[in-house]
Amino acid sequence: MRLPLIPLPREVVVTGPKTVLDGKSPVTVTDAPKLPEEAYELTVRNGAAVIAASSDAGVFYADQTLQQLKSVCGGRCSEMVIRDAPELPYRGFLIDSCRHFYGVEEIKRLIDAAAMFKLNRFHWHLTDDQGWRIESKRYPLLTAVGGRRSNSLFGGVNENREHTGFFTQEQIREIVAYCAARCIEVVPEIEMPGHFTAAVAAYPFLGCTGEPMEPEQKEGIFPNVLCVGNDDAVAFVRNVLDEVTELFPGMYIHIGGDEAPRTRWRHCEKCAAKMKRLGLQDFDALQGSFMKEIAAYLKTKGRTAITWNESLKGNMLSPSDAAVQRWMDRKGLCLDFAENGGRLIESDFYHYYFDYPYGMTPLKKTFAYDPFGDCADAVTGVEGALWTEFVRTFDDLCEKLFPRLLAVAERGWSGYPSRSYRDFTYAVHMLLPLLQAAGIPTLPPNRWDPDVRSRVREVPAFFKGSLTPDFFRQALGNIK
Ligand SMILES: [Zn+2]
Repeated sequence: MRLPLIPLPREVVVTGPKTVLDGKSPVTVTDAPKLPEEAYELTVRNGAAVIAASSDAGVFYADQTLQQLKSVCGGRCSEMVIRDAPELPYRGFLIDSCRHFYGVEEIKRLIDAAAMFKLNRFHWHLTDDQGWRIESKRYPLLTAVGGRRSNSLFGGVNENREHTGFFTQEQIREIVAYCAARCIEVVPEIEMPGHFTAAVAAYPFLGCTGEPMEPEQKEGIFPNVLCVGNDDAVAFVRNVLDEVTELFPGMYIHIGGDEAPRTRWRHCEKCAAKMKRLGLQDFDALQGSFMKEIAAYLKTKGRTAITWNESLKGNMLSPSDAAVQRWMDRKGLCLDFAENGGRLIESDFYHYYFDYPYGMTPLKKTFAYDPFGDCADAVTGVEGALWTEFVRTFDDLCEKLFPRLLAVAERGWSGYPSRSYRDFTYAVHMLLPLLQAAGIPTLPPNRWDPDVRSRVREVPAFFKGSLTPDFFRQALGNIK
C-alpha cells in the first residue's frame, strides 16, 4: 500500500477495515528493545495507535508518521501496521546563517519542518567571508567586527544597508536543546582555512599579510584565508573550537576546507617555512596537513571532523581522520577515499544545492538523483544545502527549500529508488497543509518543475551570463 507519507515507510500492512484516527485517538507507547535505534512499529487498530520502539528517536519518528497519517486520512484510515527504519544514519539540511542572517524564531521554524520529515542533522554554517555568526567569549571581535558588513552586493544587487546579527552562546544552547527534543543533532560549521575573511577582519594577525580589512559584501571566493603557517593563528582556531565543542555536544564538527585560494600563502614566509619544516610539496598538501591537524585535535575531544571534498586534494586525509562531504568532485577523489573505507555525506551541487532556482534544479531532478552512485557502502548521509547569498527574505528561503528538501529526506530514509515521482508529488501535495500550519511557505506546485522554455530563461537570468557554457550544459541537463 502506497501511503502519501514522506519519507515513504518501508513496510505497510493493512490488517483491517477503516477505523477512526484523529486528534482524540489514544496513543500508547511500548518498549521494543530488539528494534534498532531509529526504527519503530506503528499499529493503528480500533481507533487507537500503538507505538513500539527501542529509543526516544524511534518513538519520535513513529509520532511524525502518525501526525502525517492523521493529516492525510481525513479522520478515518484502514487498520494497519507500519514497520519502518532509516536507510542512512545521517539525514541533513544545511542553513547558511552568514550571507543573510535569520534569527532564532526562523531557525526554529525550519527545524520543526525538517523534523516532520525525519531529518536528523542540522548543519549550521556559522562563519564565512561575509559574516561571523557565533559568539566567542574569548574573541569578542569575531562578532563585533566580523559579524557586521556595511552593505550587501550579492548578485550585483545593492541592498544599501548594513547587515549584522549573530547567535549568542545562550541562543545556541537554546537551539541545540530545541533540536535535541526533535532528535536532531546540530553539526556546526566553522570554515577554515578559506572563507575566513570575517575572522581576519576581526583579528588581522590571522591572515598572512596582517593587513586590516572588512568582511566581504559580495558572493565569491576570496584570498584572505587563514595563515596556516602561523602557530598563533592555528592556536586561535583550536581555542575557538574549544568553545564550539562546549556548545555543541554532537559527534560531528564541520571544519569546512573548500574554496581556499593559495594567493596569500604563495607570498607568505610563515607558510613557506611550515611547508619546508613538514616537507610538503605543494599548497594542496599544506591545506591537507592543516585539516588533518585540526581533525586530530577534535579527535582528542572525542569528535569527528567533517570536511568538504576539496580537502582530499593534498592526499593527506585518511578515512580515519574525517568524514567527507561531497558537493563537487571532478577528480573522483571521493571515490578513492570511499574505496579505502572513508565515510561520505552526499550533497551534490547539481541536485542538492537549493540556493539555485527550480529552473536549474527542478524538484524532479532532485528526486531522481541517486546519491549512492559508485560508492554506496561509503555513503553515510545525504544533505540538502541552502546557501543564502541570493536569499534576501525568509519566505524565499523557505520556498527554495520546500518542497525540494523533502526529496532529500525521502532518499536518506527510504533509500533509492523509493517510489514513482508521481506518487511522491502526490504525497507532497497531501502534506502541504502540515508545512503551512508550521508557518513554512512552499513554492507553488506549478513552479516545482518548470518547462524547458522557462528553464532556459530562468537559469541565465539567475547567473547573468557569468558562468561557462559547460556549467549551463550540466545545469540544464541531467534530468532522468
Ligand atoms: Zn601565511
